[in-house]
Amino acid sequence: MQVSLNILEEENLYYFYHNWQAGQTNKIHRGSCGECKYGTGKQKNVDRGRNGVWLGPFSTLDLCHNYIAGELNLQPVEPHNCCN
Ligand SMILES: [Zn+2]
Repeated sequence: MQVSLNILEEENLYYFYHNWQAGQTNKIHRGSCGECKYGTGKQKNVDRGRNGVWLGPFSTLDLCHNYIAGELNLQPVEPHNCCN
């Protein structure tokens, strides 16, 4: 079964990969980034949630940063270069 995403192609959406094993390599990605793929990641057949989870989508980078700082209480993270 293929599941379609309830988003428009022209939407710029941001996701945060919260990987508690990788520490500060965590980054914010655009949904269209090959590493993010709208929150599904680049790997198939992995135990989703074992090492980390994708959080999002966020409509703006600011909302994503606010969530990371306010709700997750984490240090600020860098956007991946896909966000430029
Ligand atoms: Zn990216």
